[in-house]
This record gives sequence, structure tokens and C-alpha cells, in this order.
Amino acid sequence: MLPGPALAGPTEADWAAAVAAVRRLPTGARVLLVCHVNPDGDALGSMLGFGLGLRRLGVRQLQATFPGPPEVPEPLRWLPGLDLLVPAAEAYPDPDLVVCFDAASASRLGELADRLDTAGEALVLDHHASNTGFGRLHLVDPGAAATSVVAEELLGRLDVPLDAEIAACLYVALTTDTGSFRFEATTPAVHQLAARLLATGIRPGDISRQVFDTRPFGAVRLFGEVLGRAVLDCPAAAGHGLVWTYATMDDLVRHDQRPYVLESLIDSVRCTAEADVACVLKQVGPEEWAVSLRSKGAVDVSRVAMALGGGGHRFAAGFTGLGSAQKVLGRIRAELDGALITS
Ligand code: 5GP
Ligand code: MN
Repeated sequence: MLPGPALAGPTEADWAAAVAAVRRLPTGARVLLVCHVNPDGDALGSMLGFGLGLRRLGVRQLQATFPGPPEVPEPLRWLPGLDLLVPAAEAYPDPDLVVCFDAASASRLGELADRLDTAGEALVLDHHASNTGFGRLHLVDPGAAATSVVAEELLGRLDVPLDAEIAACLYVALTTDTGSFRFEATTPAVHQLAARLLATGIRPGDISRQVFDTRPFGAVRLFGEVLGRAVLDCPAAAGHGLVWTYATMDDLVRHDQRPYVLESLIDSVRCTAEADVACVLKQVGPEEWAVSLRSKGAVDVSRVAMALGGGGHRFAAGFTGLGSAQKVLGRIRAELDGALITS
């Protein structure tokens, strides 16, 4: 395990320091919110929900951003607070406060990682056990189901009441990272948070349909093709089994699809009964793959991902792999046996 904040989560002193960092912002302070590259529902939802909360507190010089192309996945393009977003190139170079969301390491902030040094203060909200402890103030709770759980508690401690706009953002984040309340992290506290969010009047059916159940027909055809070439490798992971597939940039072009449509592909692959581990390689460059890993419980895939330069959670992790798909897969197979959960 990499060095980082205690697995126990934030202490009262951590919360107090984070609250003080917001409360002592002078009038006219510039605040920059940053989430991880290729933002998902938790990254964008926790960031924008918190941003709307800061706006309610009177913060006027407020930007939200993420590294890479400034493209919000279509299923999230209705989120309240999108007007806070600016392209990374336009982000304040030296904000008074930078707040990071859902990033386990500074590298996940790409070209925006330098703000950790140039900002007057750097606050990190996250829930990855693999968090490296970057930044100065840490609200990192590996027990939290989503970064939005941490964001909601901080908003509460800042006396920001939940409204429907903030709640919609936080609800998207919560449902994204709990797999719509299906994963192990779905504690009573998660449902209590969901209840507080729903009490603002947001409509869970509409939100879920937009976020999870709507995609272009081209994406349906693309999934069919990519799922059709999935491989089941039963001896892998010391016999616990691996199922994997890949999608190339050419696949995306042929089906006229954007890369983010592939984010949910892993969910269709990981349901394979015969394999504990599922893997999807998504081509992002000629010899470069964004790799998603999932486990049903026999393997700690965050160990595999960390060994290969990435990170994540025990049962959901990822990394960037260089070389051919076969080469990257060979490296994954080599790491899998050593990542078996024995205790
Ligand atoms: P996904 O497979 O959905 O992209 O990511 C699953 C988990 O792995 C998320 O918690 C995400 O933060 C983490 N993850 C995915 N890719 C990377 C990566 O390249 N580096 C790191 N450090 N974590 C990653
Ligand atoms: Mn998350």
C-alpha cells in the first residue's frame, strides 16, 4: 500500500481545517475546483454539487475544470452547475484555494496538478484507499461510497442547506459509484444520504434514465461488436478466471461514437459468471490503452492497477497501459496471481 492518509478517514481536526480554509476566504477570493481526467458521475457530480454550495456561500470567483479535452459525457450534460466549467487552459493559474475531487493521485489531475503548488491552499476530497496523500488538507475517506459522501458532509459542516440542484449532482455521484446502490459500499449511511437528497424533490427515475439507461444506437451496435470479441480465460488469476475485451479508436470512428460511451462497457463484461476478474482495454492512442479492471472478490485489482502505474479501489481499478493490447494484457495476467485476496 502506498503511503497516504489513515484508512480510518478524516479526523475532526481534518474537518475543522477544511471548514476553516473555506470560511477564511476573503471577499473576491478565486476558488478553483478540479476533478480527475475523463470525469465520471462522481467526479463531476461531487465537484459541481460542492461548487453550487460554494456559490450559495457567496463565492463569486469560482471555476470548475478537469484536465484534457473539455468534453462532458452526454449522459451528464444536464447537470446543474455546468456553467461553472471552464476549459483547463482557462483555469486560474494561482487560485486562493484549489479543491480536488475523486482523484487518487496528483497525476489524475494532468496538466492541472501544478495548481497544488501555485494555489494558496490545496484541499483534497476523495475516497480511494490508494490516495497518495497529495495536497495539503485531506478529506479522504476510503470507507465512503463516493467522493460526494465527503462533499455532502463538508457542505453540511459549512451550513449549506441541500437544494434540488446540489442534490441532483450529489445523487448522480452517489448512484454512479455505488452502481445504483448495488455495491458493497452501500451502507445504511448511503441510503440515509440518498433519502436526504431525494427529499429535495429530485426525480430518481428521470436521473437514472438519463445517466445510465440512454445511449445512441451506434453505441448499442459498438457494444455488440466489442462484446462479441470478449475472451474468457479460465486459468487466469490462479483459476478464478479473467474475462476481457478491447475497443479501438477505429471501432469508435466506425460507429461514430465518442470515447465516453465505453465507460459502461465494463459493466456488461463483468457479469460473466465464469470469471472473477473483468478487464476492458480502451484505446486512447496508437499504443496506449485506458484499462478498466473489476473483481467479484477473489482479487484486489487495485494492487494490479497500482503495480502497473494506476490505482483505484479493491474491486474497481484502472491504469494506462502502453504497447499492444496483447502486451498490456500479458502484464495484467502476470500481476493477477499475486493480487489474490488470501485473508
Ligand atoms: P474506471 O474503470 O471506471 O475508469 O475506474 C475504476 C476506478 O479506477 C476508479 O476509482 C478510478 O479512479 C480508478 N482509475 C481508473 N483509471 C485510473 C488510472 O489511470 N490511474 C489511477 N490512479 N486510477 C485509475
Ligand atoms: Mn469516486
